[in-house]
Amino acid sequence: MNHYYDIIIVGAGAGGVFASYEFTKLDSSIKVLMLEKGRELVSRKCPISEGKVDHCIGCEPCSIMCGYGGAGSLSDGKYNITTEFGGELHLRVGRDVAMSLMEYVDSVLLGMGGQEAKLYSTVGGKLKRACLQHNLHLLDAKVRHLGTDRNVKILANIYDYMKDNIDIRFGADVRGIDKAADGFVVTTAKSETYMAKNVILATGRSGSRWLSEIMDGFGVPLKSNRVDIGVRVELPAEVWSHITDEVYESKIVYKTDKYNDLVRTFCMNPYGEVVTENTNGIITVNGHSYADPALHTSNTNFALLVSNRLTEPFEGSNEYGESIARLSNMLGGGVLLQRFGDLIKGRRSNKRRMEKSFTVPTLKATPGDLSLVIPKRQLDDIIEMIYALDEIAPGTSNDDTLLYGVEVKFYNSEVAVDENLETNVPGLYAIGDASGVTHSLSQASASGVHVARRIANAL
Ligand SMILES: Cc1cc2nc3c(=O)[nH]c(=O)nc-3n(C[C@H](O)[C@H](O)[C@H](O)COP(=O)(O)OP(=O)(O)OC[C@H]3O[C@@H](n4cnc5c(N)ncnc54)[C@H](O)[C@@H]3O)c2cc1C
Repeated sequence: MNHYYDIIIVGAGAGGVFASYEFTKLDSSIKVLMLEKGRELVSRKCPISEGKVDHCIGCEPCSIMCGYGGAGSLSDGKYNITTEFGGELHLRVGRDVAMSLMEYVDSVLLGMGGQEAKLYSTVGGKLKRACLQHNLHLLDAKVRHLGTDRNVKILANIYDYMKDNIDIRFGADVRGIDKAADGFVVTTAKSETYMAKNVILATGRSGSRWLSEIMDGFGVPLKSNRVDIGVRVELPAEVWSHITDEVYESKIVYKTDKYNDLVRTFCMNPYGEVVTENTNGIITVNGHSYADPALHTSNTNFALLVSNRLTEPFEGSNEYGESIARLSNMLGGGVLLQRFGDLIKGRRSNKRRMEKSFTVPTLKATPGDLSLVIPKRQLDDIIEMIYALDEIAPGTSNDDTLLYGVEVKFYNSEVAVDENLETNVPGLYAIGDASGVTHSLSQASASGVHVARRIANAL
């Protein structure tokens, strides 16, 4: 086995996969190794989705977050082509470059089997006006919705395209990266070592703690990021169908009267299902939906999130989010579920009340009381937002609207990288969600393409 490479990519998520794709396309003589701690695509099976267990048992590595395709593989596959949310890639590479990279990623997806995936747009539609009339602000974006099933097929096609050119190792949990005379030595948990002139770190959210340690070791500056805390809302699909049928995903922002806080909708899944997510052993909630109508449910789900950036005396936004999620794990043994009507009446949801609910949950979660878990400020913000959304989608504030908690969006600390996404250690790059610069499939993929072009050019 040849252990010397031009480039080692750590992590086979959207960023790592698109960097590998671009290297293959640009110059097949460049020797690239991709190391991934999770499994290959076909072996990624979550025991909850398979019906073997009804709650997260903390598999290591987690098949939802890790493996070929990363956290995005079993996701809804919504590629938002925008610089208004999903990360700040444009602040590093420029807005035009960021947009053109995302358009390029979209063209690759289409070429790899996404031709029939619909492209929606929130730009210039009548929804924006309706939102503004109720002090709600709809962000501009185009969104390509692949759906979980089509997303998996496209990733498999990309794998086939590059597999003869890129060495890909699964079950390769990278532990150490050390500077060597002519590049870096990369060591896995099984004590295998590989050498390369350049290392691209694309370890996503699941590798956040590890990445911070590596960056500290190299003396690369890190800046604390924000944490978003909230709930996943689930309701009958008809309540939002006049919006989701037109734009699919709508990112709506609302400023609350009470605290002047910004609350936003996030990750909308029409006819989808709610799922659990395991980040560093903490169980939170998420959602996805399939492209195939045969796999649709009768519910729509989306997140409502409040952003929190702690400054002084405590800067650990992620630790703050983690302790709130831990509290919900402690009380609910995982995810908590409450009817909106119960929350407003100040009582917990229990088995009996859930049995009477007209909205049937798509995730088996523990009925409970979210007010025991989510801080008052964030909970007040969420309640105010639900009433605001009821103005454009009447029924949102119905008693049987389901709230799952908690949904927490952790963001990696921002790694100091330049316009090439290179750190102050020459040859060491950080891309995708690992860098704290992107928070979405589209921008993470775009960052992979960008770094591949820059390195290929320099080589
Ligand atoms: C359930 C769910 C649904 C989502 N839906 C959407 C959506 O519809 N649209 C959207 O834009 N975003 C969505 N997201 C977010 C999106 O998946 C991420 O923004 C995106 O995957 C980031 O890509 P990435 O390559 O930076 O990191 P990841 O996809 O997280 O990939 C990182 C990879 O690195 C590997 N890794 C970590 N540490 C190591 C190590 N030490 N050694 C080796 N390998 C390592 C991990 O196993 C993982 O496979 C969703 C996320 C989840 C969890």
